[in-house]
Amino acid sequence: MTDITDRVLATIDTLTDEAVAFTSDLVRMPTVNPPGELYEECARFIGDTLARCDFEVEYHPAVGRPEHTPAHPRINVVGTRRGRTLRPLVHLNGHFDVVPAGAGWTVDPFGGEVRDGRVWGRGSCDMKAGIAAAVFAAEAIRRSGVALNGSVEISGTVDEESGGFAGVAWLAHHGRISADRTDFAIIPEPLYVDRICIGHRGVYWFEVQTNGRIAHGSMPFHGVNAVEHMGLLLERIHADLQPRLASRTTAVPVIPPGARHATLNINGIEGGQPVDGIQTPCVADRCRAVFDRRFLLEEGFDATKAEIIEMLDGLARAVPDFKYEIRDLMVVHPTKTPDGSPVVSALERALHRVLGRSGGLVASPGTYDQKHFARIAGVPHCVAYGPGILDLAHQPDEYCEVSDLMNATKVIALAVLELTQTA
Ligand SMILES: [Zn+2]
Repeated sequence: MTDITDRVLATIDTLTDEAVAFTSDLVRMPTVNPPGELYEECARFIGDTLARCDFEVEYHPAVGRPEHTPAHPRINVVGTRRGRTLRPLVHLNGHFDVVPAGAGWTVDPFGGEVRDGRVWGRGSCDMKAGIAAAVFAAEAIRRSGVALNGSVEISGTVDEESGGFAGVAWLAHHGRISADRTDFAIIPEPLYVDRICIGHRGVYWFEVQTNGRIAHGSMPFHGVNAVEHMGLLLERIHADLQPRLASRTTAVPVIPPGARHATLNINGIEGGQPVDGIQTPCVADRCRAVFDRRFLLEEGFDATKAEIIEMLDGLARAVPDFKYEIRDLMVVHPTKTPDGSPVVSALERALHRVLGRSGGLVASPGTYDQKHFARIAGVPHCVAYGPGILDLAHQPDEYCEVSDLMNATKVIALAVLELTQTA
């Protein structure tokens, strides 16, 4: 406990109204993705706020990305506030896109209502409160008159909900986030205010097509039914693969515990004639299905894919005329912060100071932008830590507790002080 940390914590207690208003203002911008609404306005709003907090502000349109269009420009904002030195540099990153509101709300999803000690609305938890925590953590340090022995950088980025390719990945590919300048990164995603998230499982999305042979439906024995063959694959997945996946457990502390195992979800299936069209007597000669396989750090991608191919080849050997094609749709490798990372220990100490406890380390069931920090930018010392309850993300009546917002602001501020060896 030092004079500096005391001063910064006391300053944060005076910033609640401003932090809540900023969060509410962000929620009132429906930055819905898809398609990517109001990105430019939101980037400017964050940039203007950063400029008022003495940041040097840059805007980075994701030039070269196909989704960066005149109708829906992909604009990222990065603010840098240099302390006594440029390094070490702590980068705080938040995505400002939100998923569509969906049905079932009892409050206006884009009203930014503040009631019962909560900020309500789509994106309040995932993750506009997190952006506010980053901004006001840095601002509290400034208003306390503390000069960092290093720098703090804050970015507001696009498209995390659709993979982050025009957002963090773009900034990393263009050297704006890189091992050459970025020492530590904290992404204030909502994974509970007392826990530190050290990464996520891998993702393998793939499409399988079974190829049959068309024939008259009154004489199906003359053809090969691709839907039946897809059925055989689904049966094998259910009876054989899924129990095997469920028996594998990662040592990475993924939450909820059900996600500590390897999983496979069937996203969709389509085959034969459209069922609401006029029917003709034909044997289905084509069936396609898309699968979402979440794999463990211990499994790795190569073994994950090989296991799928082996299952398909096994069917091809056992079933006459079983023909298939497989196509990779997306591969995201698992990511994990290295053991003993300074960013983890700084946050642990800050949690004990602010909350009197730490809920320990967790990993996310889904992926988030940490993969781009680690794999493209080469910044391994990256975690997610921020305000909000993971389970509320993407739900109707999403909210963030104001107390979570302010506690996370304190934890992030103390971590920045420690990582720059300022206090
Ligand atoms: Zn998020």
